[in-house]
Amino acid sequence: MSERTDRRSYEGRSITVTFEAGRCRHAAECVRGLPEVFDTDRRPWIRPDGADADRVVEVVRRCPSGALRYERTDGGMGARTPSV
Ligand code: SF4
Repeated sequence: MSERTDRRSYEGRSITVTFEAGRCRHAAECVRGLPEVFDTDRRPWIRPDGADADRVVEVVRRCPSGALRYERTDGGMGARTPSV
C-alpha cells in the first residue's frame, strides 16, 4: 500500500518550510512556538520569513509528526531536517 503524500512548500528568503497535512497531529508545537511564522488563520499559513531562520529551524524540529520539514538556502545552521 502506498502512502499518498501531499507536501506543500513555503519558500522564504533563507529557508523553505514544507508541510504534509496528512501527517499533522495538531500538536500545535508550531503555532505555539512561533506564531509569527505559523498561523492557521492566515493564508498562506506558513510564512518562513516571519522570524529568524534559526528560530524556524528550532520550531520545525519540534514537530512531533514529521509533517513539517525545512531546507535552508542560506548555508546556516542545520541544512535540512535530519532524517529519522
Ligand atoms: S507541530 Fe507538526 S504536528 Fe503539530 S500542528 Fe504543527 S505541523 Fe502539525
